[in-house]
Amino acid sequence: MSDVRTTCPYCGVGCGLMVSGGALKGDIAHPANYGRLCSKGAALKDTLSLPDRLLVPTIGGREAAWDEALDLIATRFAETVRTHGPDAVAFYVSGQFLTEDYYIANKLMKGFIGSGNIDTNSRLCMASSVAGHIRAFGEDVVPGCYEDLEEADLVVLVGSNMAWCHPVLYQRLIVARERRGTRVVVIDPRRTATCETADLHLQIAAGSDVSLFNGLLVHLAENHAIDEAWIASHVTGFGETLKTAGMSVPSIDAAAAITQLAREDLLRFYEMFAGTERVLTLYSQGVNQSAAGTDNVNAIINCHLATGRIGRAGMGPLSLTGQPNAMGGREVGGLANQLAAHMGFAPEDVARVGRFWKTANIASRPGRKAVDMFDAVARGEIKAIWIAATNPAVSMPRANHVREALKACPFVVVSDAWPTDTSALAHVVLPAAGWAEKDGTVTNTERRISRQRAFRPAPGAARPDWWMFAEVGRRMGWEDAFAHRTPADIFREHAALSAFENDGRRLLDIGALADIDDETYDALPPLQWPLSKREISGTGPRLFARGGFPTPDGRARMVPVKGLDERRSQSLLRLNTGRLRDQWHTMTRTGRVPHLMTHAAAPKLAMHPRDAGLRRIAENTLARLKSEHGVAILRVSVTEEQRPGDAFMPMHWTDQFSSAGVIGKLVMDRTDPVSGQPDLKATDVQVTAIETQWTGFLLRRQDGTPSLGEQIYWSKVPVASGFAFELAGWTALASVIHSEDILRQVLRIPRDAELVSYSDPRKSVFRYAGFAGDRLEACLFLAPEGVSLPPREVAQAFLGRAMTPMERVSLLAALTPDGSAVSQKIICSCFSVSAESIAEAIRDGKLSSVAEIGARLKAGTNCGSCIPELKKLLQEHSEGDLMVAK
Ligand code: SF4
Repeated sequence: MSDVRTTCPYCGVGCGLMVSGGALKGDIAHPANYGRLCSKGAALKDTLSLPDRLLVPTIGGREAAWDEALDLIATRFAETVRTHGPDAVAFYVSGQFLTEDYYIANKLMKGFIGSGNIDTNSRLCMASSVAGHIRAFGEDVVPGCYEDLEEADLVVLVGSNMAWCHPVLYQRLIVARERRGTRVVVIDPRRTATCETADLHLQIAAGSDVSLFNGLLVHLAENHAIDEAWIASHVTGFGETLKTAGMSVPSIDAAAAITQLAREDLLRFYEMFAGTERVLTLYSQGVNQSAAGTDNVNAIINCHLATGRIGRAGMGPLSLTGQPNAMGGREVGGLANQLAAHMGFAPEDVARVGRFWKTANIASRPGRKAVDMFDAVARGEIKAIWIAATNPAVSMPRANHVREALKACPFVVVSDAWPTDTSALAHVVLPAAGWAEKDGTVTNTERRISRQRAFRPAPGAARPDWWMFAEVGRRMGWEDAFAHRTPADIFREHAALSAFENDGRRLLDIGALADIDDETYDALPPLQWPLSKREISGTGPRLFARGGFPTPDGRARMVPVKGLDERRSQSLLRLNTGRLRDQWHTMTRTGRVPHLMTHAAAPKLAMHPRDAGLRRIAENTLARLKSEHGVAILRVSVTEEQRPGDAFMPMHWTDQFSSAGVIGKLVMDRTDPVSGQPDLKATDVQVTAIETQWTGFLLRRQDGTPSLGEQIYWSKVPVASGFAFELAGWTALASVIHSEDILRQVLRIPRDAELVSYSDPRKSVFRYAGFAGDRLEACLFLAPEGVSLPPREVAQAFLGRAMTPMERVSLLAALTPDGSAVSQKIICSCFSVSAESIAEAIRDGKLSSVAEIGARLKAGTNCGSCIPELKKLLQEHSEGDLMVAK
């Protein structure tokens, strides 16, 4: 196979990949990453042959042919529309979609079924940025580009753990910082890995972002840092916005009180911002996922508009997009409140898109946004829903409510590459082609369209998403509208629509690509829009340097915003959610790669020592979290990285990976009133200690839950020859394993398999092993709380292997083949280097820099995602002078 250039399917950085022979590496020619990859991107080759792919369509659990499944979907959707109207059906799609997938699904729902009911999981990710952009600029436009990271003198990161969530951009920032001394300010209620390289970390009270930026605006005005000439030429709303800011935050002392920051720290930030022309403000989910998300966005943009710091090198607001193609979805109308090609539901837009699509059945009003959509399913108003490439049974707020809604829904279709907690609730499951098997385009954070190219055939009967939606469109009677043969056909139509009757008022114009042939589409290099056939002054990698906003008067709008009034109960903790370094979304891919599970093997609740002490919760013990909507049980990390009163839990774990680690089951349904984006970072939770009676681990060749009843905690990781489960329980062990039948079920071994045990009931120590012939199929080690277990690696070394009698004795006596094993936290996933080895090398080798660690252990020398943690370990273990790059 010749070399194939494609893009990473994970985050919105949109890194280019080069597939060459069997190797997969960063594309040195791609302007997003110039060859760099993070730990997730670098591990993509390990996700190609994952087991458990969905390979054939199923109806009610039985295998079916594509024709039967597609006919059924078309019939049920058509019947539902005929009987109950178009708003009784819905599509819920994904930022994992390619632009071509999005285009066809959107065209089918809004253009031909005639409902606005298509929304995307991007609603959970960046809908507030979309709304903020539209309010300020008149259109959802990101004004800057990645090069600004290398051109800025001050980079402000708001609500963004960039080191873990957008790692390649973070690496670009670090390199720029070492070269030109860029100062970095992090604004985040948590002390994250990103803070390791910050000059200033403002550990702000959660929910006070608007007040912080209103205070900044007032400071800028009082200190003559406003660009009055720019405002006079290009901005409206300055006076009213400043007045509102002044009323909500009358003084720096008031700003310090609301944000709960030290006055001098706040002043330092304000002075840095006021005194630096090249300021780049990057923001992410900490800003967007809030009941004031849109106001947060506009509070940031207001400061850039007031200073005219936008659209020029090294300055401007830049929203970091979460998903790989959230931007492409925004462009084609994947959000329920956007029609298509950055047009909304104004009558003239509806008429224009209707003319282009040649349809009289076009939706004339927005559809239901994600939270509202699943509420409508629960109320029975939506009676048929198609969920594609996303897992709302885990990721949506009130996930239990979503599950109940889907169970009660008369017709649920799920298309995905792997089985998920959501596909388990579907009537029809369709096997989707995965990222390595699909052709199309994606748009990254900086408006850059890149080709995603297939380099493997899809397995079994898996097909691309656009094909499924087009097939259903044809079967519903719209053969001509969905006659596309290839992704290139769809892309040309999308490009033509962007330019259709576009006299320059819509900046999203890629009309220059509307007539490209298949070969040109295949060879398309990464390109930033606008790409109009006409000359648009001021376009290029940056927009708005000379104004030219896509508003009726051509001016940007400053938006008066007030902060949230967040009075909260003192007895509850405020639960924040977010990503971990080596995981992606609900772990369908990354959770199946053993070395990506070594950085964090289980979900943990992070809480401040004060809050842990008040609840008598110790490090690594179990706690129960309870909100109005659900319960989670997980181990605790006691850390000063959290503010008192706040707690943090990762978003990734599903029912397939943990007994009770689905954070979506707890999260409240409060949404931003403008964007409809859920507030995923502020759920009140009660946290209580759990007194465990026993702990243990299970190793098994076979997947599946441990089947040990309700009263236990478990979390799962894949290992080389099977799966490892960590176990703990809070009822007597005897009540858990009370028969050989139960034991065989837990071990997943048949009746005729040999079962060997070592038990000491007096001490409640139990060890069991199941064999198929000589081969170890499973083993279970249990001991009372406080009695140490042998390291899991002891038994893991035997799993799936033929064992000699001596080795069996050795296994149940808990000895390793070489006599030792230890469980370690892996910091560098690329080279499997543990925290313990790094600490030892720092101490013994008197290492004082990341480079020295790399030279000694290779850690940090490949993808670089672990560099912030290496710096932290240097701070903790180095005795001499540090050379930790600032
Ligand atoms: Fe993929 Fe990592 Fe690049 Fe994001 S930063 S696109 S996850 S390689």
